Amino acid sequence: MGTMEQDCVFCQIIRGESPAEFLYQGESVVVFKDIHPHAPIHLLIVPRRHIRSINDLRDQDGDVISEMILRAKQMAMECSISDSGYKLLFNVERGGGQLVFHLHLHLMGGW
Ligand code: AMP
Ligand code: ZN
Repeated sequence: MGTMEQDCVFCQIIRGESPAEFLYQGESVVVFKDIHPHAPIHLLIVPRRHIRSINDLRDQDGDVISEMILRAKQMAMECSISDSGYKLLFNVERGGGQLVFHLHLHLMGGW
């Protein structure tokens, strides 16, 4: 394991070394609650593989991105916020507000 994965807080959560409230644990993607929610429902959809940001996606990473978005849709349904509506957000690098450098999709709703 590289130091990137060792030090990464989301890798630590995925390995079970740090606590999180998981709502889904799939083969390639997991979902847990954001620790500082900005909405009544604020979930993070996170690939198991350490990818730094959207900038680091390769052409062959289409599957993981589509899995993240489809999982977000599913989670919104399960949380009963599909009809009321929600936001999906990728922050990209520091200027884009990214603080955790392991790719994640914010799902926020329930207003
Ligand atoms: P971003 O600014 O897009 O990098 O978002 C990172 C998000 O991760 C923030 O909304 C944080 O509240 C959240 N976060 C940071 N550490 C944890 C953690 N240990 N468990 C759950 N969420 C976290
Ligand atoms: Zn990571």
